[in-house]
Formats: sequence, C-alpha cells, structure tokens
Amino acid sequence: DRAGRDASAEPGVELDGLTVEFDGVTAIDDVSLSVAEGEFFTFVGPSGCGKTTTLRSIGGFETPAAGTIRIGGRSVAGVPPEDREVGIVFQNYALFPNMSVRENVGYGLRFRDPPGGHSTAERVDELLELVDMAGMGDRDPTELSGGQQQRIALARALAPGPEVLLLDEPLSALDARLRERLRVTIRDIQQDLGITTVYVTHDQAEALAISDRVAVMNDGRLEQVAPPERIYREPASRFVAEFVGDNNLFDGTVTPGTPPSAAVDGQSFPLPDADAVQADEPVTLSVRPEAIALGSGDATLSATVENVEFLGDAYRLHCDWQDRSILVKTDQRPEPGATVQLGIDRADVHRL
Ligand code: ATP
Repeated sequence: DRAGRDASAEPGVELDGLTVEFDGVTAIDDVSLSVAEGEFFTFVGPSGCGKTTTLRSIGGFETPAAGTIRIGGRSVAGVPPEDREVGIVFQNYALFPNMSVRENVGYGLRFRDPPGGHSTAERVDELLELVDMAGMGDRDPTELSGGQQQRIALARALAPGPEVLLLDEPLSALDARLRERLRVTIRDIQQDLGITTVYVTHDQAEALAISDRVAVMNDGRLEQVAPPERIYREPASRFVAEFVGDNNLFDGTVTPGTPPSAAVDGQSFPLPDADAVQADEPVTLSVRPEAIALGSGDATLSATVENVEFLGDAYRLHCDWQDRSILVKTDQRPEPGATVQLGIDRADVHRL
C-alpha cells in the first residue's frame, strides 16, 4: 500500500511548518509533509502556487522564514546547496555551453570522489549509459536535442550520487510526445536507483502518471497529499476536484433517508452510502465524466447535447442540464441537439 509507505519507511525529505516569505508576502504557508526514502513525490498546482519555492527551499536556494527542512533525518538549516546531497534539474536545461557533454556530466565530481570507488571517467560513462547517451560524451551541448539535453542534465545531477533528486518542471520546454516519453525514462531511472525524488510540475496529468504520491498546492498551502488514484477518485476539496482531470461538480442539500440523497435544483442525486448526513446540510458532489452513462442510473438527468469532441478513444460530450454544463465521456456519438438521459450511479458519486 503506497499510501502508507511514509509511515514505516525512513524519511527522505521532511518539511515541518515550512514558511517562506518574499518582502513580507507569504509564498509558502506552514507546509508540513514527509517524503519517504525512495519515493517519487510530486508538487503540482497552478502558476504561482509555490511549487518552485518549495523545491528551491529544499535545495537550499531560499531561506525559510519559519519551519524546518530535514534531509535523511538531519536538519539542513544553514547548510549551503552544495552540501545538501541533492541533485537538481531545472526547466531550462542549464548545461554549460562551453563544456562537452562529458565535462557537464562530470561537473559535480570536480572536488569530490565519485561514489562506489569509481574514477570520474568511469562514473561519467556509467551515467551516460544510464540516460541512454553512451557515445555522446564528446559532443557539444548545442549539438543535442532538447530531450537529449535534459537527459544530460539528469545525468549531471545524479553523478555525485545525491540522496535526493530535485526536478523542477524538467520537461516543460519539450513537445508533448517527447514529454510523455521522457517522463517514463525519468520514472524508470528513479526506480532503478531507488532515489528519493521531489518533482515539480504544473501538469496534473504528468503528476498523476509518474508519482508515488502527489501534493496539490494552492496559494502557498497544501490542498491534498495522496497517491494519484486517491487524488483523482477522492479529491479532498473543490480546488483539487476542479484542478485534476475533467470533472462535474454539483452543489445541493442533503435529504436524509435510506439510502440518503441530495437535492440539486430539485433533482435527487444518490449520496455515498457510508456518509453520515444531516437534513438540509449543503453538499458538493463530484462525478467524473467517464462515470456518467448514456441511459438510466440511480439518478437520471435529461440533458441536451451541445457539443461532441472526438478524443480518439472516446467522445467527450458537452451537455446542458438545467443551464449547467455537464461533461460526459462515452463511446457513443449522439448528434448535437439530441436529448440524452445521463445515468449516475451511487458508487460513482464522491462527496467533497
Ligand atoms: P510557476 O509554475 O509559475 O513557476 P510556482 O508554483 O512554482 O509557479 P513560485 O515560483 O514558487 O510558484 O512562486 C510562489 C509565489 O512567490 C508567487 O506569488 C511568486 O510571485 C512569489 N515569488 C517567487 N519567487 C519570488 C522572488 N524571488 N521574489 C518575490 N516573490 C517571489
């Protein structure tokens, strides 16, 4: 159970009440969490939510206004970046243009011995092999594609054998196809090495795809920290429900009964069975587009199809129900203007 791993495993990175301010403005507000050793942990959120500042604080490039950061169980307060045993890859490659690929990868080994009793040359070869760039060592960084440059940046970050790998939007400058390929490469390498990894992205699909756990950030705070499946299926807040994936949210009020239900604009919606409810309590329900069937369900909404998008593996319908927009993902293709019945089952309703 990946959700429980951080309870038992050694801590890789711990944030305890981390607070970062810029000119009196709070960018990170009392963030506490623990990344387990060997875990792939991702911060995701919209622009300006504080992801990069959190990563830079772990790397030693920002000084917290309050709170503690521990790496491998030890506080790193006052420890400069080069002594934190972290390897960092930034968005914009940042390879040294006046050095060969080989010199770039060996850069972090100038003043220290490579791990494992290797010579620097052996270690560089090992890393080039790892990122599938063997034989490219004598090239100039300008002779590499964007994806190759990011592989070299990754090799350079890993060469000294850091305890923690920090990745700040490493794929965002690449095209979509390459981004999807390279994220699998990063995940493979991370798993091979078993290295604790903290990753930052604004791309929620990327975060879900590669992480053991995801922290969704909003405005300097944590909205939810959980494995990808739980973030998707059981969003903890309206923000998470709207930020991650397509979703339909319904605001209503509770009607007690067996089973309990909720009224949304006069329409009865099923509530998850386990929920304790009070009459007239406000509720927000989230129902994913792929959970809505054309046909009847525990609730059946009569809606009008406004727009049909072909996604390749399915159609996405934009439907109108009582002046609300409802997204449906289905393998059927009704005509725009058609009236359809939208079936929603109790098991597919999540209460925020
Ligand atoms: P993006 O995806 O756009 O990089 P982010 O989630 O990484 O966004 P941060 O870069 O961490 O967000 O910024 C968090 C907040 O702190 C923002 O409001 C930003 O304007 C502010 N901020 C970040 N760095 C500085 C700085 N050096 N000086 C002043 N304010 C800063």
